[in-house]
Amino acid sequence: MGNFEVGEGRRVFARLPHGGDLIDEILAVANENRIELAQLWAIGAVQKARLAYYDQVRRTYREHDVNQRLEIASLIGNISLREGKPAVHAHAVFADQDGRTYGGHVASGCVIFACELLLVEFLGDQLVREYDEVTGLPLWKGL
Ligand code: ZN
Repeated sequence: MGNFEVGEGRRVFARLPHGGDLIDEILAVANENRIELAQLWAIGAVQKARLAYYDQVRRTYREHDVNQRLEIASLIGNISLREGKPAVHAHAVFADQDGRTYGGHVASGCVIFACELLLVEFLGDQLVREYDEVTGLPLWKGL
């Protein structure tokens, strides 16, 4: 295991569009600002959620929909390069009207109701994802 040092870049706040796909819209903000390496946080609400769970035995993601209007109680993640392009990796906890929560890897298919995003950019060498034989996941190379 290694580590990777970076310099501080910009901080970008964004309001994501109603009806957009959560992952696509986070990526759009990164692309508009030419951000290739960042930490991200978001709060807000979705009209529906789609979450994934990585099955460590079968080495595949299992996706499922939560067809409810939910709060984005907490979303954290990062942006780094995958196959030469910025890619979003985010996990979230969503809460329903009774405070029950649903959490996991955020998949495509979460429909935004309202969302406030903060990207914190990092500068320096790029972190690149590549296939990891041990886990079957696209993990950061060289770390
Ligand atoms: Zn994940």
